[in-house]
Amino acid sequence: MTGPRPLPRDDLRALDGYHSPQVDVDVRLNTNESPYAPPPEFVERWLDALRTVEWNRYPDRAATELRAALGSFLGQPPARLLCGNGSNEILQTLLLTYGGTGRRALMFEPTYALHAQIARGAGTEVVAGERGPDYLIDPDDAIATIERTRPAVVLVCSPNNPTGSVESRETVERLARAAAGAGALLVVDEAYGEFAQWSALDLVSEDLPLAVVRTYSKVWSLAGVRLGFVVAPTWMITELEKVLLPYNLSVPTQVAGTIALDFAPEMERRVATLVEERGRMFAALTQMSGIDVCPSGANFLMFRVNGDAHELWKRLLAQDVLIRDFSSWPRIEGCLRVTVGTPAENDAFLAALGEALPEVLA
Ligand code: PMP
Repeated sequence: MTGPRPLPRDDLRALDGYHSPQVDVDVRLNTNESPYAPPPEFVERWLDALRTVEWNRYPDRAATELRAALGSFLGQPPARLLCGNGSNEILQTLLLTYGGTGRRALMFEPTYALHAQIARGAGTEVVAGERGPDYLIDPDDAIATIERTRPAVVLVCSPNNPTGSVESRETVERLARAAAGAGALLVVDEAYGEFAQWSALDLVSEDLPLAVVRTYSKVWSLAGVRLGFVVAPTWMITELEKVLLPYNLSVPTQVAGTIALDFAPEMERRVATLVEERGRMFAALTQMSGIDVCPSGANFLMFRVNGDAHELWKRLLAQDVLIRDFSSWPRIEGCLRVTVGTPAENDAFLAALGEALPEVLA
């Protein structure tokens, strides 16, 4: 190269990319996907539909059929929906539209790392609020932080990744009202919403600056497709549509998202199985000495190890079980997170843990 290497934006220098090792192992319980493949009949119908597509044409920019199907599934008008390539793209669109230079995004740590990463990528200053005991947001404290720091966007992950904690309806309602009073937008990230007891979806209305983000990556067994969506007031969707790239959603993605909804009963049964397995794993982890497990409303469990958690993570990996290592993360030092898999995968994890745990305890 002749001249100096072009430099990225000054505010991006300190950014560290997303780290979650993709390792080939037998038991993969590290990224909270569904452990089940989509139903074979879904795949057949999807592939059949793709045979008649006019591939030389751009996809329907408005994703009309998908939004109509999703709207009727959720009981929401299609005008309140916007779909993207995974909920990450939706979060990015929200932050590009309502965040940006000179604006702040407030989030409550520890939480999904990509909230801060996406906010920074969009040039938004990140304000880190704290979670209280049980990793729940203290609404009084949060409202005071909103009033003090005047964020443009408030992000709440519920069920929270990686802790599994679920905010109460009252907390979300109070935060939404506080955001409204401060001219801010409240984003509730419900990537794991189907595994929890309640959802903020029915709080969405034209009168509240509330956006609820969901994904097809977990319950719908379609992480490989990349499809997520937001339910928000129509006036907000109109603004987001100006920022989202045109034709962002490929035809296969739109078709997959529409057909998948016909398999809702099967997916609901899978959710019930995973919730039952979560309970079984929670009980098993509670029985083990040297471990404190957090209650979870998601398809994963976070637990603190009274010993060398990173070493435990390595020993599990040596037994072909990959989970997520949060042991050096601020506020959750010594913690690991395991995705709820199939009963057989969960058994393999529990057996490997039973073997490795005594060797790492303090
Ligand atoms: N939000 C949360 C809280 C997540 O954990 C994830 C996936 N790890 C996402 C959003 C992004 O999911 P996707 O882009 O696959 O929809």
